[in-house]
Amino acid sequence: MKLLEGKTVIITGASRGIGKGIAEVFAKHGANVAFTYSSSVESAMELESALNNLGIRAKGYQSDAAQFDQAQKFVDDVLAEFGRIDVLINNAGITKDNLLMRMSEEDFDKVIDVNLKSVFNMTKAVQKTMLKNRAGSIINMSSVVGVKGNAGQANYAASKAGVIGFTKSVALELGSRNIRCNAIAPGFIETEMTAKLSEDVVQGWRDSIPLKRGGTPEDVANACLFLASDLSAYMTGQVMNIDGGMLT
Ligand code: NAP
Repeated sequence: MKLLEGKTVIITGASRGIGKGIAEVFAKHGANVAFTYSSSVESAMELESALNNLGIRAKGYQSDAAQFDQAQKFVDDVLAEFGRIDVLINNAGITKDNLLMRMSEEDFDKVIDVNLKSVFNMTKAVQKTMLKNRAGSIINMSSVVGVKGNAGQANYAASKAGVIGFTKSVALELGSRNIRCNAIAPGFIETEMTAKLSEDVVQGWRDSIPLKRGGTPEDVANACLFLASDLSAYMTGQVMNIDGGMLT
């Protein structure tokens, strides 16, 4: 059964990693997919054509989610091209890890802008069309680090905890208009973001997880599929941990 037939979904940061996994799973479920990326032009173009080959409509846009005006323009362009927006996935994110002692103001601001302000920018931009449709599902990518904290990631943890507060507030504001807003808190998902870590550290993470493995982009994408579809029609303001039991 295709769960998103005829829906238009926008995903920020889908040129690789979790965002790419979401785009692939959603396209297989019949969704048209508009996605953004920051600088990976080649992989974005490859993804665009692979998705179009699945018989849905897909388009990649180079757009910085941290920039308010670019987010608005992206949404305007998608509405002009696709005609509607049913689901927004705020996935774009970066890390700039360091102990507080060594963390620069620039690295703090950059992580907050890309991980948190982007969520504000994109949600503001889609709000009007979702209000008009009296329907919508917004899914924000938080992290177990936003729930629990992590040494060396004060900027990242603050941004991801901020995403949770934003999600719950939007759920309260827009619930009466049938717009749902939920967050996902992935644990350790093996992507380029985690490939920066040494193999020892990666193995340490795997060993400490109750399910004894890192997650895959598809593990997170399947949770997004549930939250985007009508299977979760009575769920809003929640945080779903997709972490192999890490926070148990
Ligand atoms: P990733 O492999 O590093 O991919 C990040 C994606 O975001 C890329 O497509 C990148 O585009 C895009 N991006 C970065 N800055 C952007 C910007 N300013 N505007 C638009 N797009 C931008 O990361 P990932 O591991 O898939 O993570 C995806 C999300 O899940 C992030 O929010 C991350 O914090 C969260 N998360 C990840 C993990 C994990 O273990 N991997 C755990 C918890 C939460 P380019 O390719 O052009 O750079």
